[in-house]
Amino acid sequence: MAIQGECPKCGKRVLHVNVETIVGIVDGSSKARCISHSCIHCNTVLSVEIDHRAKPRTRSSKPPATA
Ligand SMILES: [Zn+2]
Repeated sequence: MAIQGECPKCGKRVLHVNVETIVGIVDGSSKARCISHSCIHCNTVLSVEIDHRAKPRTRSSKPPATA
């Protein structure tokens, strides 16, 4: 399958993307780990998504005691 996606800025086909971990800001404070995908040719950000693998830091790392 040929890759058809093009960068909207430089017009080159997006065969590779830079993947960077960035921080999502909610109401002025950092709340979520996010991932940005950017063009390797011109660094235009193509998309940003929440990193669902990252756990929020507000909760304790230990599970609550059930007993
Ligand atoms: Zn580009």
